[in-house]
Amino acid sequence: MIYRSFGSTGKKVSAIGFGGMRFADQNDAEACAALITAAYQKGINYFDTAPGYGKSEELFGAAFKEMKKQRKQKPFYVATKTVKSSPSEIREEIERSLRRMDLDAIDFYHVWCVLSMDGLRERIKNGALKEFERLKNEGLIRHICISTHMQGKEISQAFEEYPFEGILLGYSAMNFAYRDEGLTAAAKHDCGVVVMNPLGGGIIPQYSQRFSFVKTTSDESAVEGALRFLINDPRIAISLVGFSNQAQLEEAIRAVDGYQPIPTETIAHIRESMNEAFNSLCTGCGYCDSCPEEIPVPKLMEAYNHFMLSEDPQAMLNRLRWHWGIQLDSETLRKCTRCGTCEAACTQKLPITDRLQKMRELADTFLAKNKS
Ligand code: SF4
Ligand code: SF4
Repeated sequence: MIYRSFGSTGKKVSAIGFGGMRFADQNDAEACAALITAAYQKGINYFDTAPGYGKSEELFGAAFKEMKKQRKQKPFYVATKTVKSSPSEIREEIERSLRRMDLDAIDFYHVWCVLSMDGLRERIKNGALKEFERLKNEGLIRHICISTHMQGKEISQAFEEYPFEGILLGYSAMNFAYRDEGLTAAAKHDCGVVVMNPLGGGIIPQYSQRFSFVKTTSDESAVEGALRFLINDPRIAISLVGFSNQAQLEEAIRAVDGYQPIPTETIAHIRESMNEAFNSLCTGCGYCDSCPEEIPVPKLMEAYNHFMLSEDPQAMLNRLRWHWGIQLDSETLRKCTRCGTCEAACTQKLPITDRLQKMRELADTFLAKNKS
């Protein structure tokens, strides 16, 4: 395992972190705890969770029971988050997180899901960061961090307004061109950088052929290439992988173990090879999931990714029906009022309403063809 300094915190963190948002079956507590423990034994020492990831905090708590016995000799760090804004709600939330994980303190506590500077300022005005500081003084948290999908300029502004010690942001071989400025701003402020979605929400492994440009040797997989591309970036301390199973864990470990510095010209080639379309894929972050018409926007946009990557409408229609259980003649594809709520929340700034319209058209064409 490769270990990196985490900004100015003095902590040494593993180049791969364990993201606790993609467990295969959260009801199988034993298997989830075994996966977390296996990652720890393989050298991963950064574990990221959140109160909004289903039972994730409890599952980490179960694994930490055993891991704590070794913690002195083999340190590990825990990151969790809150979207709360008022001091009393933040305190209640962290107390719940600490109870669920049976911990005395959270190493990296995040102001979670900051989508705009206005949103951050509102939380500052409500006393959120003052409460974070009180929690730090009381020893309940160790470092104050931010989790955001803001763009580079806004991230720079965030650091002008508060000296965050760590930042969690979405970045991958799929969207790096779009997010690069944010990363530079964070590194400039000597802030520890954790990137989420390093595998594009699972898209890179699934369409590995389309991502073969990230491979720098003939025997590496696209996943290994994508992770090594990030490991090679000195601005990034941790790439957070949402593990579902042991095979994914093994592959990520292989990526780190086999890492060799990538020549500058190869990195330049990877960057050039980026297709514009890859910047406009949905990463599955779920921030748009508040449609007043109850349209499951993230599911639909995930299905649309399959159309963009395969250029085959059938791949998208199959995904809708067989993966998401959405019938092609259902209202779901037809009730968008174009209110714009989802587009305002979209972290990738995707033209969601246009895509919905395209999906409707493709579904209708398919239905008409199959009627005649
Ligand atoms: S634009 Fe359409 S899909 Fe988006 S939130 Fe409004 S109704 Fe829902
Ligand atoms: S459409 Fe945008 S906000 Fe919604 S899940 Fe995809 S990337 Fe995230």
